[in-house]
Amino acid sequence: MLQPDQIERLLVVMAHPDDVDFGSAGTMAMLVDHGVHITYCLVTDGDAGGSDRSMPRSEMAAIRRREQTAAAAAVGVKDLVFLGHPDGRVESSIALRADISRVIREVRPNVVLCQSPERNLDRIFASHPDHLAAGEAAMCAVYPDARNPFAHPELLAAGLEPWEVEEIWVSGHPTPTHPVDVTDYVDQKFEALLCHVSQHPDPAGMQVRVREWMVRTAAALGLPEGRSAESYRVVRAA
Ligand SMILES: [Zn+2]
Repeated sequence: MLQPDQIERLLVVMAHPDDVDFGSAGTMAMLVDHGVHITYCLVTDGDAGGSDRSMPRSEMAAIRRREQTAAAAAVGVKDLVFLGHPDGRVESSIALRADISRVIREVRPNVVLCQSPERNLDRIFASHPDHLAAGEAAMCAVYPDARNPFAHPELLAAGLEPWEVEEIWVSGHPTPTHPVDVTDYVDQKFEALLCHVSQHPDPAGMQVRVREWMVRTAAALGLPEGRSAESYRVVRAA
């Protein structure tokens, strides 16, 4: 796994606002602390989220963009790109691959952090169909699309040169390989998570669950007792 001082820029590709914060806000805070430049790319605006039926869906999109922007700021991330694909209907289409490839060529990241294209049968809530599709499209964009000058030729025509991402960090994978110790960043992670006000009917219960899950993750991947971790399946891509 590339270490923070080996990473200049990291691009996060997630299906929905709040996905990055559940799985990776601690990692984001740690990397920002080490001077890594981070960009979030949100495939949808999360306009099918929440449970308030009186809320117009068009308003939900704006609310969730605001919430994700605030959550990003809580961990020091200021660059966000919203692709605006429809929530609940994400497909790993050529159009989405082209959109993500464009962002990769613009951002030129060393690492892309994305969701798992493989369903986790032990924890199906991490495997929302939008997550699987966004993960598949992001991996196709890393290899081969973004590095292939002849893929999505409109990108080269627009002056966007091919770019080779070195590593993919997959979150929510059934068999994570690498823990990131985020013990010192747990408070910042909750600051980010709590920005998603429209998504938390029970913020206290959510914090208990996420806290327990981070401690279990650390223990499962061999960190000392009492540490908290987020975890990834790390994939070499160069
Ligand atoms: Zn999601």
